[in-house]
Amino acid sequence: MNSTCNPLPPDTRRAAADNVVFERAYVESLLRDRESLWHALFAQSRDGVVVLDENGKVYETNQRFADLLGYTMDEMYQLHVWDWAHGPSPEELRAMIREIGDDGHHFETQQVRKDGSLVDIELSNSRTFFRGQKLIFCICRDITARKAAERRIRYLATTDTLTGASNRGEFSRRLAEEIARAHQHGTPLGLVMFDLDHFKHINDSHGHDVGDAVLRGVMEVVRLNVRVGDVIGRWGGEEFMLLLPGLDLRDARGVAERLRAGIAAHRFEPVERVTASFGVVVLEHAEGFDALVKRVDVALYRAKSAGRNRVQAVSGD
Ligand code: GH3
Ligand code: MG
Ligand code: MG
Repeated sequence: MNSTCNPLPPDTRRAAADNVVFERAYVESLLRDRESLWHALFAQSRDGVVVLDENGKVYETNQRFADLLGYTMDEMYQLHVWDWAHGPSPEELRAMIREIGDDGHHFETQQVRKDGSLVDIELSNSRTFFRGQKLIFCICRDITARKAAERRIRYLATTDTLTGASNRGEFSRRLAEEIARAHQHGTPLGLVMFDLDHFKHINDSHGHDVGDAVLRGVMEVVRLNVRVGDVIGRWGGEEFMLLLPGLDLRDARGVAERLRAGIAAHRFEPVERVTASFGVVVLEHAEGFDALVKRVDVALYRAKSAGRNRVQAVSGD
């Protein structure tokens, strides 16, 4: 330093230099404190945290995220996001990383653990820039228990617990949906209603528990004889509905006949014989929910009146 250019006396200069050293030490200790605080938050977070570089590789993560996926920390640093993301391909994930803006995203997803099992995750991500590179910051919360509870609540709200069929509310919702779809696309929609014959007699002779077992058994026979997309509903006590999207009257009658024969041939110990009567209709042009249900009810009534253990198909005209 050129003293001729410095207007300050030597003592003052020394004091100023000491001050600079002191301030630097102070700032560094502040930064260290902040860094250790940041690390503590990162390490102790109850959520999994993972920072990805723009190639989708793990840049930083915490123990919680490693535990969530069942990897060691060392293993984690070898992984890319496609090693645990369930669903999107590596190309799709790369595109997602490119597209993440300042706002980031918040969504529910699933991740694949090291052992192949799936975990339900609520994920928030955001983009940040650090030392000239783009990083994706992800917070992953394990919501497996919450999703299981939601599934259970949904099951209880939509399912008849005795038979496993859709309950009346859920069946009605699906029926209304399928009616709208059939009208929109001009596709046929078959509807079957069936009721066990003389079921009161089964209860009276063998007891209510046997009656319940028969209802469950009938449902098993029905399930074995319908397709995956067909909807089975319990409409009332021993009265059921079957929704057959895409089936015309002839095919819907064929399904009902198969069910009738299947139930009549099945042995429901200790009951001697169980039969059911069937009404079959298909949705007519511009027909609504109430009119369709009324027609299938009339068809079933006719099958009962005609002697039971039979199928009565009724066309609209
Ligand atoms: P039909 O051939 O005319 O249909 O005669 P049915 O005896 O089957 O008809 P009815 O309506 O007289 O009797 C229906 C019986 O179904 C009466 C009711 O106690 C019984 N039931 C309704 N729900 C259940 C149930 O969940 N479990 C049992 N075990 N019985 C039920
Ligand atoms: Mg009955
Ligand atoms: Mg009945």
